[in-house]
Amino acid sequence: MIMTAAAFALGCTSGLSPENVRIADYKDGKSCAISFTFDDGMKEHYTIVAPELEKRGWRGTFWLCCAWIHDDPQLDTTHITWSEVKDMHARGHEMSNHSWSHPNLTELTPEEAWNEIKRNDIAIEKHTGVSPVTFCFPYNARTPALLRLASEGRAGTRKEEFWLGGQHSPDEYLHKQVADALASRSWIAGMTHGINYGYDCYEDPADFTRFLDYVKEREDSIWVGTFKDVAAYKKAAESTQLDIKADGRSLFITPGLYLNPAIFDTLLTMEVITGGKRIKADQDGQPLEVTVRGDKAMFSFNPYGGEIRIRR
Ligand SMILES: [Zn+2]
Repeated sequence: MIMTAAAFALGCTSGLSPENVRIADYKDGKSCAISFTFDDGMKEHYTIVAPELEKRGWRGTFWLCCAWIHDDPQLDTTHITWSEVKDMHARGHEMSNHSWSHPNLTELTPEEAWNEIKRNDIAIEKHTGVSPVTFCFPYNARTPALLRLASEGRAGTRKEEFWLGGQHSPDEYLHKQVADALASRSWIAGMTHGINYGYDCYEDPADFTRFLDYVKEREDSIWVGTFKDVAAYKKAAESTQLDIKADGRSLFITPGLYLNPAIFDTLLTMEVITGGKRIKADQDGQPLEVTVRGDKAMFSFNPYGGEIRIRR
């Protein structure tokens, strides 16, 4: 057998050195992330969008303005009802805050703006049991002060998005968003309103599902997660310190993360360069499931937990 220089080096050192360990940028070591987000609580988000996402194993983020949500479907056929909001939440979608009545928050007093944000949090929590930990500005209108106000106690707010809406989004444009995210290892968020109705709806609803399929085909490299899940992962990954000790045979890693675990309640992915060899890992004495992808071994760990041990 011919041993390459790299394989020889790994064989000699067993490859388990602190410099071969890092927290992955994205869950499961993926190259980039996409969040599918949907604005304004349209009825079709319940009837079309959520089922299409679920078919592909995904969950979406739905920005609600609770002033538009009723319990009586006769009253308003264009927006979702509270029972639909509750059902989507139960199925794992993120039901989040887009302000109470969709005003331009920059035209309100700070008190009025706070009221628009808070009142919507309270209404969503009342019906789902969970207060939103993300926020999306109506019309994207914001000031630095409003951004601070809306970010308080949250994992993130949507500040940039690509228009995943029919007339604005030919395939070439959408494919470029994906290519750019993969090349720059970025997190991108799609913005969609209505599918069959509304000012930016699709000429052909198949254009929407065709893009979902395009992303699905590239899922090996793309993490599709809710806005909250990706925001929490990114912030926790950036903020976690690793204290790593080695004794020649094993690595002992103590993670340190000092964020609010009620908001940043995420597991993180550890990447260990092993040249494709298998390793064993445990945290607080409990075995962790290790997968090998390419030259890396990976496992999920709790950044708020205790010591992680890695060995051959
Ligand atoms: Zn909106």
